[in-house]
This record gives sequence, C-alpha cells and structure tokens, in this order.
Amino acid sequence: MAASMVVKASNHLRTSAAKCLFLNNQQVVQLTPRRWLNLQEYQSKKLMADHGVTVQRFFVADTANDALEAAKRLKAREIVLKAQILAGGRGKGVFNSGLKGGVHLTKDCNIVGQLAKQMLGYNLVTKQTPKEGVKVNKVMVAEALDITRETYFAILMDRACNGPVMVGSPQGGVDIEEVAATNPELIFKEVIDIFEGVRDDQAFRMAENLGFKGSLQQQAADQIKKLYSLFLKVDATQVEVNPFGETPEGQVVCFDAKINFDDNAEFRQKEIFAMDDTSESDPLETEAARHDLKYIGMDGNIACFVNGAGLAMATCDIIDLHGGKPANFLDLGGGVQESQVYQAFKLLNADPKVEAILVNIFGGIVNCAIIANGITKACRELALKVPLVVRLEGTNVHEAKRILSESGLPITSASDLDDAARKAVASVTRK
Ligand code: GDP
Ligand code: MN
Repeated sequence: MAASMVVKASNHLRTSAAKCLFLNNQQVVQLTPRRWLNLQEYQSKKLMADHGVTVQRFFVADTANDALEAAKRLKAREIVLKAQILAGGRGKGVFNSGLKGGVHLTKDCNIVGQLAKQMLGYNLVTKQTPKEGVKVNKVMVAEALDITRETYFAILMDRACNGPVMVGSPQGGVDIEEVAATNPELIFKEVIDIFEGVRDDQAFRMAENLGFKGSLQQQAADQIKKLYSLFLKVDATQVEVNPFGETPEGQVVCFDAKINFDDNAEFRQKEIFAMDDTSESDPLETEAARHDLKYIGMDGNIACFVNGAGLAMATCDIIDLHGGKPANFLDLGGGVQESQVYQAFKLLNADPKVEAILVNIFGGIVNCAIIANGITKACRELALKVPLVVRLEGTNVHEAKRILSESGLPITSASDLDDAARKAVASVTRK
C-alpha cells in the first residue's frame, strides 16, 4: 500500500494539469478537480526559507551574464546551477543545445556563465517533460554544499488517510517510484492528525527511519516539523524534498523543493497565486481557466463540451466505444453563464484538431435554456464550420430544445448520450 501511495505522492510531475481518464480501463488522462498550482523551485525555496527551513543561499537569473554575476556575488567555494522548469528529473535531463544535465556543479564562476548560456532559451528534456522538453527561462544559481547522504521526504494530502501523511525514505535523490517498486520496505509513512499536527515522536521516528543519527536526528525532526507548518500555512497539497540531505558539516538541508497548492485556497493565498507562472501551461488551458472553464486536451478529433468531470469521463468513454476519439473536453462546471458557453465554443472552434463538437450537458443547477442560447449565439457569431451534436437533459430542457430547433442552425440533436456519441462519431467518419 505504501508503494502505490508513494507513486501517487511523488507523481513528480511538475508539468501542468495532471490528466488521467480511463478509456477501456486504460488510464489516459487524470481528472483533477482543478489545476493545482505549481511553483518553480526557487519560489518554493523562498517560501521554505521564510518558514525557517534550511535551503542553500541562491540567486535567480534570466541571462547568462546575470548568472555569472550571481555566481560571483555568492562568494561560494562551489556553485550549483539549476535550470528552472516545473518538471523533475532535471539532473539527468538533456538540453536541445546539446548540454547534458539540468543541474551542474562547478568551482569556476566563469563556467557558470558558459553553462547558463547553454541552458537559457533552450528546451530541457527530462523523464517528466513532453518529448520536446520545456523551455528554460530562468536558472537558479546557488551555493553548492557537499552531500554525504540523500534521503527523500514529502508531506501530502492522502485520500486514503483523509488527511496529511508524511512519506520518507533513506534512499533519496533518486526516482522514489523506483525505490517504492524495488525496495518498498525502505518507504516509511506517518499519518498526521490534522488537529494534533506532527507529534515529536512522529518527527523523530521519521528522522530515524531516514537514517539521521545523533544531533542530525534532532535537526531533521525540527526541519520536518517546520516543513509541516509550511504545508499548513500555505495550503499545500504536497511538499516534496528530494534530496533531503545531510552535509559533512552536519547540516540537514533541503536540496530540492516541489510544492503544490490547493486551488480552493486561492482566496486566502493571494501572494502565492500571484507567483503563478503560466508560461509552461497549455495556452488553451490557461485561456479556459480565465473564463472559469476547464480544458483538457487529448489526441482525437471530437470536442466534448460537458458539465462535470464524471460526465466528461462518460462522454469520452462512450465516444471511444463507438470508435471515435475525443480531441479534448471542456468542462463548464456549475453556475453557468451564457457568455461562458460562448467562450467555450470559441476555444473549441479555435482548436485545429476538432472536426466535430459534441455537447453533453446535464442540467441540474445548470439551466439548459442558457446553454441553448449560448450555443446559438456562438454558432452564429463564430461561423462554426464543424458538425455539432447536442444532447441536453434536465432543467428547462424543453425550452432549450425549442430554442435550438427554431434557430434554423444545422444542429444535430441527440436523444441520449449513446445516440449523441454515435452521431458525433458518424459525422467525422463520413468525411
Ligand atoms: P532534479 O533532478 O530535478 O530532482 O534536481 P535536484 O535539485 O534534485 O538535483 C539533482 C541532483 O543533483 C541531486 O539529487 C543531487 O545529487 C545533486 N545536487 C543538487 N544540488 C546539489 C548541491 O548543492 N551539492 C551537491 N553535491 N549535489 C547537488
Ligand atoms: Mn530532486
């Protein structure tokens, strides 16, 4: 159980929205209620430092020259230069400039400038990025410290425990999924009581399980407690430190940092959410989010316009069942306005992959007539070129159907989900 949880935990994906959906029992995309905010390492480390967690001294640079200057200013024996992208596995990554490794150690400041030149503006490909990699816009220039031991430590919200859990392993630095698979006995877990917080005995047991000895154990326990108070304070869903290491000088240091935040807490974490850097997100996703819509892109050609994640999954599944492939889905969510329907269509219409649109709305809170008015307005103003199949059900559906049929627009209406999927698939295969 610990193993599978860790895999979930360190779903190390720092990339945009987790996508997971089951088509024919195969996990295709993952539906998260909303996109969870991720920050870059340097931003996460700033939060950590502010909460008394031990991180190295660092500067951030977006030009090679600034990186060089930063390296000089640090006056460190050794410098570590790190590409800032939201994906993990940077150490073993490769740039399209030819440079190997997104994390470099050097004692020569001039080398920092040269390396930064081969990082900035280039794409870094790691195990966790898309094939083409992610463009590096910033580098972190930090004081390097020697590491005698690398451990893994994370705190995350775990559905199975209905609350926060600490997960750790004395075998850190490496892929934790691999440790979980090959040495599950080296994964340790402590369930945290949300009211009580991390107890001393829990923090010490974790420090001990991570292999910290003597005074280092006290230090590690102290860092663990501080990481938990940060976790609570910033409304994190995950704080992951890999490696959580020790130095020959006897310091416990967080060498890497990944924090995910609960989007539902945006209203009280304004400063953190203002740091959101959408340059790595799918532009369609970002645009959808601006209108309070959720867009998830897929590989097929039938756009799905739905309300609710469950209906989205069912719609994609049934398209698949009838031999079609969803191009995306756009989730309207709850309290819908006509303007959102219009924006949704605008987005779907702009996606070159889309060869048909299937609307599948179940009106509960949502009033179907509002949807119908949004659809007809969008069809007229956007000069929709692809076939449109609409299945509406629920609140005010008769009025909605009247609006659609009296519109004179070439809208195919469907009696139920099966019918809708069949018609949508037929409309793209007929071509
Ligand atoms: P990731 O590959 O994206 O997870 O990036 P990390 O920040 O975890 O760095 C990768 C590896 O580089 C770590 O596991 C360490 O082995 C090494 N590393 C990072 N910072 C330092 C440092 O300050 N000193 C030393 N000696 N190694 C470091
Ligand atoms: Mn790491």
